[in-house]
Amino acid sequence: MTDLVPAQIGNWIQDRLGSSESEDWLEKRNPATGGVLFQAARSGAQVVSRAVQAAVTAQATWGRVPGVQRGEVLFEMAARLQQRRDDMARLVALETGKSMRDALGETDGAVALGRFMAGEGQRLYGRTTTSRMENRLAMTVRQPIGVAGLIVPANTPIANLAWKIFPALICGNAAVVKASEDAPATAWLFAEIAQQAGLPPGLLNVVQGYGREAGTPLVDHPAVGVISFTGSSAVGREIGARAGARLARTSLELGGKNPLVVCDDADLENALRWVLLSAFSNAGQRCASCSRILVFENIYDEFVDRLVEATRLLKVGTSDSDNLGPVINSRQMELILHALEEAQGRGCRVLVGGKRLPGPGYFIAPTLVDKVERTDDLWLHELFGPVACLLRVRDYEQAVEAANDSVYGLTACIHTESLHRAHDFGNRVQAGVVVVNGGTFGSEPHMPFGGVKGSGNGTREPGTEALDIYSNLLDLYIHTDPGKV
Ligand code: NAD
Repeated sequence: MTDLVPAQIGNWIQDRLGSSESEDWLEKRNPATGGVLFQAARSGAQVVSRAVQAAVTAQATWGRVPGVQRGEVLFEMAARLQQRRDDMARLVALETGKSMRDALGETDGAVALGRFMAGEGQRLYGRTTTSRMENRLAMTVRQPIGVAGLIVPANTPIANLAWKIFPALICGNAAVVKASEDAPATAWLFAEIAQQAGLPPGLLNVVQGYGREAGTPLVDHPAVGVISFTGSSAVGREIGARAGARLARTSLELGGKNPLVVCDDADLENALRWVLLSAFSNAGQRCASCSRILVFENIYDEFVDRLVEATRLLKVGTSDSDNLGPVINSRQMELILHALEEAQGRGCRVLVGGKRLPGPGYFIAPTLVDKVERTDDLWLHELFGPVACLLRVRDYEQAVEAANDSVYGLTACIHTESLHRAHDFGNRVQAGVVVVNGGTFGSEPHMPFGGVKGSGNGTREPGTEALDIYSNLLDLYIHTDPGKV
């Protein structure tokens, strides 16, 4: 299928190229065709233990390397990733079914994140402050935690890896990544690039396998000091509880059911453009995607007619001229189609889409649904696919109330020409990221991203704020003796 990774993708522990003592393998299928792409090791607790041990050993040295020097290694990793952006993007496109254009954009984002975090090695700021006592210095210093366990999904595979690996390493930790079973190759190539960039062996280990078999032992391992998880809220809750039982630190970046409000004073052409991108780019497989569109009732019919028409014209496929690709696997496709069928049985109305496209692969037509009760499953729960619900709202007050009426709180967006409304919305909507007159998207590499309520546990990645996840803050007091000056 590709010469970039072996047909059987093993675990990457220490620097063992693609090795695996695995006897069990899982099949990774191509979302665009349904055919088997390669096999990945189906690892369990024993492999996780070996990976953690390798990380513990390597971290003992890495943790003492000055941050500036760690940053130099990370700069080299980012540079190598950029040199191999075509290779990486080819794998991302192959594993996810997204276009090369999107895969290249995602790879470039990972490079930018790497550069930003490498630069943090020159800062890693603490505070110096005053002390109540004379002849005493007071300061805070960042220290590594030790081993970081990183668990990622497949929706933007290279970005998800970069978002966690670079900040974990710059803070002086070693990492054990539980790759997504839906994107084993991207993680494998990332480890190879890190090795070629001179990252010492054992600092980045990749364990392949399923969540319960390979993820749970990583969460439970007593030598893993911090667990950073990106994925569904259901799994996040479980991981939070398990890690909490042994008081390990967690960063939980979870799901969303993100609202986008279109007011009657909005630039409707601009709103339309952003709704399409927010709801359907990456086939709606974005934690930040807008799956609830709230439209003022006095423009509802006009706006929705235009939106349905524009949605009908979207092109589904894997080429650069297509707007969206397939969903990641057949299970996810079936789940979405089943949810839509059930919703229609309850009286929800599919305005456009709502079905699988003919032919191979896991392609679902971009779908808009109205007549959805606010108590309906379709309104309440994240589907993680190209499906958005529409709601008529009376006015701005009702829009804010409905936007906040969710267990999630990741991103939110409003389209309005009113500065006053925009400002008020930013203050009142319950979300970690608010956008005015744009789309619901993740943050830039230097900005903190994360949610409130069921969308996370309050941590923020990336930005400088990510350093708080991956380092311990030490208070350092130094007493001096004026008599010895
Ligand atoms: P998922 O929760 O099923 O799986 C995510 C990862 O966790 C995978 O690697 C999986 O193998 C592993 N996993 C599953 N069960 C586990 C367990 N019991 N213990 C340990 N690990 C386990 O999510 P998914 O379907 O792969 O991804 C989609 C979800 O991710 C959506 O909910 C989406 O909103 C969320 N997401 C959030 C963000 C964010 O930054 N907030 C970004 C991207 C995706």
